[in-house]
Amino acid sequence: MRAWAVREPGPIESGPLEYVDKPVPDPAPGELLVQVLACGVCRTDLHVSEGDLPVHREHVTPGHMVVGRVTGLGEGAAGYAAGDRVGVAWLRHTDGTCRYCRRGNENLCPSSRYTGWDADGGYAEYTTVPADYAYPLPADVPDVELAPLLCAGIIGYRALLRAALPEGGRLGLYGFGDSAHLVAQVALAQGATVHALTRGDASQRLALELGAASAGGAYDAPPEPLDSAILFAPVGDLVPVAMRALDRGGVLAVAGIHLTDTPPLNYERELFYEKELRSVTSNTRQDGREFLALALRHQVRAKTHVYPMAEAQQALQDLKAGRFDGAAVLVS
Ligand SMILES: [Zn+2]
Ligand SMILES: [Zn+2]
Repeated sequence: MRAWAVREPGPIESGPLEYVDKPVPDPAPGELLVQVLACGVCRTDLHVSEGDLPVHREHVTPGHMVVGRVTGLGEGAAGYAAGDRVGVAWLRHTDGTCRYCRRGNENLCPSSRYTGWDADGGYAEYTTVPADYAYPLPADVPDVELAPLLCAGIIGYRALLRAALPEGGRLGLYGFGDSAHLVAQVALAQGATVHALTRGDASQRLALELGAASAGGAYDAPPEPLDSAILFAPVGDLVPVAMRALDRGGVLAVAGIHLTDTPPLNYERELFYEKELRSVTSNTRQDGREFLALALRHQVRAKTHVYPMAEAQQALQDLKAGRFDGAAVLVS
């Protein structure tokens, strides 16, 4: 099969990925073999390709927002049959026995493994997923629209939970890309007031189209203090900016897996009055199931920008350069 592989991590402009022939994978016991129909392009794929994240698997195939069709089952794989449409997301293994797993925080499991980092992902014709970590998908939503929900949506939803938005609260979204535009729809459906703080006219326009109360630059002050904020841009310089924008008791959740260093925080202006700064680490399967159900109920729709699978590297270059709004999706 044709598949993308990270030859040597480096700047995406230099072409660290190559399009190669790989054997169609054999599903291990408990795994599904999945024919990729569509695969979303995530900023984490960029971090894997550029070396912001350490190499976990040589020549890994990135991609962890896969909508695919089951074409084979490994020994003992249960819950799915050949022909089923499934979602393959970032989290693909936890031990189920550590203190974090036992208390419902499998996202913190030290033995966790991830699709497109520890195992080959969806920038390919086929991939595999442990059946216990796959998501059943509804029949009536197109592949391309579902793909971005599987990471951008799920991680964004966990970030929204971590940001502890009160009912009817004021939410600031720093950066308005794939994840933020999905979270915004959920928050608005739940009655929140949303302010987008982001570079780029197109992103600001998209925010307003979706119902945001305001859209301004990332370094601008929002028109009112925020109860909660989520930082999607991987820019540490924005942490104090967002902390200053919080009201008393407000919470900032940093959604990314990678963030540039944060400048020092001023205690009086940026932390006092019980403001909180929180990180977001991956997600639990419970987050995934909850988000997918909410997304369907509220008809959350990804704005998508479609590329052929053969142009994955171009899609990542465009993501880094901010050349599209919404979410990029590769199709086979
Ligand atoms: Zn564990
Ligand atoms: Zn992702």
